[in-house]
Amino acid sequence: MEVKEFEVWWKIPFKHSAGLHATKFFEGLKDGKILGVRCERCGRVLVPPRAFCERCHAETSEWVEVSDEGVIETLTVTYMKFTGLPDPPYAVGVVKLDGADTGMLCFLGGIDLSDWRKVHETFKPGTRVKAVWREKREGKITDIEYFRPVQ
Ligand SMILES: [Zn+2]
Repeated sequence: MEVKEFEVWWKIPFKHSAGLHATKFFEGLKDGKILGVRCERCGRVLVPPRAFCERCHAETSEWVEVSDEGVIETLTVTYMKFTGLPDPPYAVGVVKLDGADTGMLCFLGGIDLSDWRKVHETFKPGTRVKAVWREKREGKITDIEYFRPVQ
């Protein structure tokens, strides 16, 4: 006997706590600031901030403001629609901001995204980028609309 399979879609609305570090990070975004934390043991600046350094498991307590400019570490372009994400095409990348030792996942933009080859050439790893902030900020990651190439 073959076991039956049914396609099912669950819609489960819920709220989860962002926690103290992420809350302070998002409040910083509302003020146009990108905040990280410095590891007390190894000195690395972690952005986005977290309560513990993932390398040495030391607590982080020193808050640091980092630049809204940095370099691309890696990227991808998406041409499919995903629930809760923008209409395609859109590009996301890991950006290491000046003053930070870790990368942050960000939207990339300010250019035509229809040709992935051009997107990868424009935002190749090492490319300098700068945040484009929304005028009206709400304390969400989308307060940074995207990162654009620095001319
Ligand atoms: Zn550390």
